[in-house]
Amino acid sequence: VRSYSVLSNDQLRINGVKDVIAVASGKGGVGKSTTAVNLAVALANKCGLKVGLLDADVYGPSVPTMMNIHQKPEVTEDMKMIPIENYGVKCMSMGFLVEKDAPIVWRGPMVMSALQKMSREVDWGKLDILVLDMPPGTGDAQLTMSQRLQLSGALIVSTPQDVALIDARRGVRMFSKVQVPILGLIENMSCFKCPHCGEPSFIFGTGGARKTAAEMGLQLVGEIPIEVDIRKGCDEGIPIVVSAPDSVVSKAYHDVAQNV
Ligand code: ADP
Repeated sequence: VRSYSVLSNDQLRINGVKDVIAVASGKGGVGKSTTAVNLAVALANKCGLKVGLLDADVYGPSVPTMMNIHQKPEVTEDMKMIPIENYGVKCMSMGFLVEKDAPIVWRGPMVMSALQKMSREVDWGKLDILVLDMPPGTGDAQLTMSQRLQLSGALIVSTPQDVALIDARRGVRMFSKVQVPILGLIENMSCFKCPHCGEPSFIFGTGGARKTAAEMGLQLVGEIPIEVDIRKGCDEGIPIVVSAPDSVVSKAYHDVAQNV
């Protein structure tokens, strides 16, 4: 196991932040960032909490697009970056700091020092919850992040597909290894309801997440369908909990927010 010797071993405690909650997945592309964004906005707007969103998915930061933030953060006199707020959530992302199409080919230690920059060198102010959009997977960087950030808990996102659930189990085990409580499993892309005839299709299978949750003693805290409006919200930078707050999907995100 490589050790990140460029950093001291102390925790990356973020001043003024009560709880840090990670949104994680064993696999990329399962909807982790979509979940993190909608959850953060729901926590702020529905639960009335002071919320931050730290996009630690340094390899493929999605928060700038999904939260429609395209400017660079300003810096305070004592050289701290000021997170950029939209939809009531204070956001920080590596995507604010690098050029849009630049390849991000970092090795583990660089990922950790970027994370240190985005946690310690940011003027978060007082926050009830900081939602952490983790990089996908269960490698060194993810493990170190989970250890250092003093997480209050983690939510695992998976599709109902077997290959995604196998990796989700790895995620659960990774957090257990570093004593981070799992707040629950969220099944994303659980079902597609045809907008024409209303017939449901279970594109990625059905029942898998419920079974995995039961087997691992976890709570299934949300089942989010596949919907064009969720995808559109991500691409257009208006999360569905903002554009359609009374929709069934938004209610599902609100329930997750209320459960964490
Ligand atoms: P991850 O963070 O796991 O890599 P993303 O949240 O970036 O995944 O999602 C990948 C893509 O899938 C995004 O373009 C997003 O718009 C889309 N997407 C995610 N969840 C849904 C959903 N429930 N319905 C429709 N599209 C979705």
